[in-house]
Amino acid sequence: SSPAKIIDGKVYAERLRAEVAREVAQLKADHGLQPGLAVVLVGDDPASQIYVRSKGEHSLAVGMHSVTHRLPGDTQQAELMRLIAELNADPLIHGILVQLPLPKHLDERAVLAAINPDKDVDGLHVVNAGRLASGMPALTPCTPLGCMILLRETVGDLSGLRAVVVGRSVLVGRPIAQLLLQADCTVTIAHSRTRDLPAVCREADILVAAVGRPRMIRGDWIKPGAAVIDVGINRVPFDDPAKAAAGRTKVVGDVNFKEASQVAGWITPVPGGVGLMTVAVLLQNTVTAARRLQGLA
Ligand code: NDP
Repeated sequence: SSPAKIIDGKVYAERLRAEVAREVAQLKADHGLQPGLAVVLVGDDPASQIYVRSKGEHSLAVGMHSVTHRLPGDTQQAELMRLIAELNADPLIHGILVQLPLPKHLDERAVLAAINPDKDVDGLHVVNAGRLASGMPALTPCTPLGCMILLRETVGDLSGLRAVVVGRSVLVGRPIAQLLLQADCTVTIAHSRTRDLPAVCREADILVAAVGRPRMIRGDWIKPGAAVIDVGINRVPFDDPAKAAAGRTKVVGDVNFKEASQVAGWITPVPGGVGLMTVAVLLQNTVTAARRLQGLA
């Protein structure tokens, strides 16, 4: 079999950001509406700081109004809830994103539940999860939506295909499964209790890995020609013993790329695949939220 086509997330993310920039310009010109995104970061987790900075920069780059609230790590629940209430009421803000994880002393569920579902651009409010599961218009989690864009751009029509999603988290696995179902796939959701996971994966025309275990999915788990979407982001030591000894790490996916790319039809690399789509989709969700809040949807 010939090696898989590599799905370059950079290309699709750039395309989507350009499209969002055009929509933002159009909304300004036609309706005097500038979509606004508020990002809330509590504490100084290094990875979260990088994500939050990137979200702020990209939202400005497409012409949005953008505000980042950086709160100290010892912020109290009531204070955070007050900020959410302010942002819910702020007419210049159409999207609210609270960067997760929150420090341990804060009640993440209560914070997410306090966000106006129509401004919930991360799609994590139970109302949006429920709308998605009911097939109603919903703000949908960004990474799952990014996976779907990549699949539509490569595979095209997904109707009737067998999809297997490995992972059932509220953030990733479940919403991806819902979106695949909406696209008329026959969907299996696998998880840590699944029996004979390799055999289940081998059934998949579309295999989505959202597990958090480096290179777990092997080449011989993959149906020849399948589309493989690797959501995993795992930090591991370098293969090169000298670099590993120096404590250097790199990022790999949940799929053994070297093996899988010999069998699959399409595959997303890590890094450089799904991960790049997330922020672009966040921007698109903010435009969607702004349109709906203005009654333009
Ligand atoms: P979670 O840890 O919340 O969920 C992992 C899921 O994988 C669980 O449903 C778990 O099953 C399942 N699982 C764990 N071990 C196995 C196993 N041995 N066999 C089968 N299933 C297993 O992770 P997330 O869903 O939040 O994230 C998944 C991955 O995606 C991570 O690597 C994360 O870093 C990455 N990620 C990437 C994003 C991006 O690209 N922007 C965004 C978000 C996440 P069970 O439910 O039974 O415990």
